[in-house]
Amino acid sequence: MRTLRWGLVGASDVAATRIIPAMRRLGHQIAGVSSISDEHAAGYAQRHEIPYFTSNIDVLVSRDDVDAVYVSTINRLHYPYTLSAAAAGKHVLCEKPVALNLPDAWAMVRACESAGVVFAVNHHLPCAATHREIRRILADGAVGRPLGVRVFHAVQLPERLATWRLHDPAAGAGVPLDITVHDAAVVNPLLGRPVDAIALGVRQGPWDAAVDDAIMSVLRYEGDVLVQTHDAFTVAYAGTGLEVHGVDGSIVATDVMTQEPVGTVVLRDATGERELDIPDRRDMYEVALEAFARAVEEKSEPAVTGVDGVRALAVALAVQEAASSGRCVPVVTEPVAEG
Ligand code: NDP
Repeated sequence: MRTLRWGLVGASDVAATRIIPAMRRLGHQIAGVSSISDEHAAGYAQRHEIPYFTSNIDVLVSRDDVDAVYVSTINRLHYPYTLSAAAAGKHVLCEKPVALNLPDAWAMVRACESAGVVFAVNHHLPCAATHREIRRILADGAVGRPLGVRVFHAVQLPERLATWRLHDPAAGAGVPLDITVHDAAVVNPLLGRPVDAIALGVRQGPWDAAVDDAIMSVLRYEGDVLVQTHDAFTVAYAGTGLEVHGVDGSIVATDVMTQEPVGTVVLRDATGERELDIPDRRDMYEVALEAFARAVEEKSEPAVTGVDGVRALAVALAVQEAASSGRCVPVVTEPVAEG
C-alpha cells in the first residue's frame, strides 16, 4: 500500500491525539504543518517532530513534498482551505463537518472533482468494525424492514475542548455540527435518504455557552423510518449506543459512538439474543487513512466520500435549524440548481 506525505492544515487537538499517531503507525510521513499563528505552528511542529511549519497555508499546500492535505481547523475554515488544497492539486482529507453550509460543501466536492483529487471527510465512526458489521447484517436482512433507529450520543465535552465549540458560532460551534453530523454519517448509509427533522435544544452545561449544548431530534427517513438522537456535551455517564429496530428483529449496539475501537453488537429476534463476533478492533482513524491512501493509488472511493460528508452535514443543518426555529425542517441532500 502506498504511503502518503501529508501537509497538516491546522495545528489541532484531533491531529495531535488521533491522526498524527495513526499516520505514523501506517508509515505515512508528515511533511509540514500550518497554523494561523507562527508561534503556535512552531511549538506544535517541535512537539510532534514535524520538519516544516508555516502560517501560510498556500505555501504548505504548494510544497512538492506534500501529496495530500489534512484539514483540521475550526469548522468555518474547512471550506477555504479545502479549495486552496484542491487548487494546488493536492488530495484532501477534511475534518467533519465538511463545511458550515450546503452550497460551500457542494463547491468543495466540485472543486476536488475538477482538480482530479481525492476528497474524503474524516467521519471515523463508519470505519469502525462494529458499524461495518451493523451495515452488513442490516443489508443482509437480519432485522427485516427497518422501522426505527435510536442514537445515543450524549457525552461530556472534555475541558480542553470547551473553547470555540461552545463559544464561537461563527467558527461552527454547537452540538449538531459536532455530534449530530457523526450520527448522520452512521445512519445515512443504513437507511438511505433523510427526509425531515424536528428538534429541541437547550443550554444545560456549567458554562456560559453561546449555543445549545444538548439537543434531542427526531428525523424521518425515506419509507417512514424514524430516527431519534440524543446528542450533548453535558452528559458524563450515559454511555453511547445505536439501535436499529426492524419488523423481524433488533440490533442493539452498545458503546459504539466513540473514538475507541470498542463496543458490542447484539442481534435480537424470534430465535433469541446473540452477541456478534467482532474480531477486528483496528483504530478507526487508521482504517480511514488506509482507505484514503488506497483511493489515491487505485482511484477507488475513500471510506467517507465528500458527497457522504455533505449528506451528513445536510442532516446536522436541518436539526440545527429545527432546534432554533421550532419547525419541522426538510433535509436537502442534493445540490440546489444555481440561477
Ligand atoms: P482545536 O480546538 O484543536 O482547534 C483546531 C484549530 O482551529 C486550532 O489548531 C487553530 O488552528 C484553529 N482555531 C482555534 N480557534 C480558532 C479561532 N478562534 N479562530 C481561528 N482559528 C482557530 O480543535 P479540534 O482538534 O478539537 O477540532 C478540529 C476539527 O476536527 C474540527 O473541525 C472538529 O469538528 C474535528 N474533529 C473531528 C474528530 C473526529 O473524530 N473526526 C474529533 C475531534 C475533532 P491553527 O492551528 O491554525 O492555529
